[in-house]
Amino acid sequence: MSKFMFYTAGEKAMELDIYQSSIQVFGNDMVFMADAGYGDVIVITSNGSYRKMELCHETAMYLRKNFPFTAPGRVLRIAKTIGMGDRLGIASDGHIACVENSDYAPVLAQQSIRELTLTGRSYEDALDAATFAVFKNGYKKPWGADGGHLKKPEEIERALSCGFTMLTLDCSDYIKSGIERLSDAELDGLYTPSPELESIYAGKSFEIRPDITLSFDARSYKEAAVIYGAALDFIEDMYALYIQNGNRDFEISIDETSAPTTPAQHFFVANELARRGVKFDALAPRFCGEFRAGIDYIGDLKKFEAEFAVHAAIAAKFDYKLSIHCGSEKFSVLPMIGKLSKGRFHIKTSGTSWLEAMKLIAKCEPELYREVHAFALGHFEETKKYYDVSANISSIPVLSEYSNEQLLQLFDNNAVRQMIHASYGLILSVTDDNGTYIFRDRLYAAWRMHREEYKKLLTEHIGRHIAKLDSQISGLRDLP
Ligand code: ZN
Repeated sequence: MSKFMFYTAGEKAMELDIYQSSIQVFGNDMVFMADAGYGDVIVITSNGSYRKMELCHETAMYLRKNFPFTAPGRVLRIAKTIGMGDRLGIASDGHIACVENSDYAPVLAQQSIRELTLTGRSYEDALDAATFAVFKNGYKKPWGADGGHLKKPEEIERALSCGFTMLTLDCSDYIKSGIERLSDAELDGLYTPSPELESIYAGKSFEIRPDITLSFDARSYKEAAVIYGAALDFIEDMYALYIQNGNRDFEISIDETSAPTTPAQHFFVANELARRGVKFDALAPRFCGEFRAGIDYIGDLKKFEAEFAVHAAIAAKFDYKLSIHCGSEKFSVLPMIGKLSKGRFHIKTSGTSWLEAMKLIAKCEPELYREVHAFALGHFEETKKYYDVSANISSIPVLSEYSNEQLLQLFDNNAVRQMIHASYGLILSVTDDNGTYIFRDRLYAAWRMHREEYKKLLTEHIGRHIAKLDSQISGLRDLP
């Protein structure tokens, strides 16, 4: 950064630290982002005078209109894409640094309604934060904005009206669970007979690749039809309303279910969507094993590898990418995902940037971290009502036994990771009797003060994910 003094008639001098990478020049005039001490601002110079704009929604709209690279676009047809949620609106600097010298395209805004509600933010806030970071860093490659896990038309419309360029349609409300445990008679009770579908699937085999054939018997066909029938209708309706005539990335998510998506069921969904003329860019099955937030994959690696290979072959046959949700910390399976998908995947990390933000607090503001940790621990049972967390409170180490220098070691403990991961809503929203935030303002002040350190932590941490994904890939090209 370099310091500049600005003078304008009738106002006192303003000293600004300019972010060099943000400078856009037009003849003698410039637009750039600068640190004005209390926060960042956009400055527009014109004929020796300047105009200062705060980082508000209007300023973000001004940037997106005048600097098209600061507006999101479609990215999912690029081979490797990574969605990096930024719950706090401060992580995109680090996210951009992770990908700017790579062949990954980022989805920089990616927030679920739940995350927005729990953090007291809006779709506009999430998109604007990404726009400001893109401008600040002069990042001119494509980037996306994903309305994550959208379930209802009004949610989709909200995200689209704010300028989001990708929809992740969450079909979980329409997917029936527990079907595999039913007796044949019980299954028949739920099944709507369809001679057409029966003639296509029951007792039939499908060659996905010369070495991969999937088969349906009468039972497995009926299970697929019952589990996904209503979801297929829902997807078709939402496609007709919001995707068919719009230029948007479309991801279908069937991952938030109790039972894994078997390869045959995945094929059934893909084949039925193709028959209905529904085009999409990515699909998130529920893979076998557990993809829990904040911790590594839990499950049988051999089984995962075998099934992922078939899922990837189905996606390749129908020309879309697999999307892997909850991809953060899944170091044991990331190399397989990269290799078996032949380097074509969309991977989502959401809470990991929040976790890194809390590691930063543990490192730089240990006393504040202790307060937050104790609070999260005291409310862990409450948090578990919102989040499906496997961690047991008894496996969380005793905080007082850790010196300030040792606090970071707490993040090696899976139970601590899960607790901090899931507690963000409570931590950010809790107030005292006067309605003053107990942690929020102090946390944001610390994150701003240590923002270069935060960027470094994110670059290292997400960079490790990218290195693992790439570790077994060779010979890539983009989808046509
Ligand atoms: Zn998901």
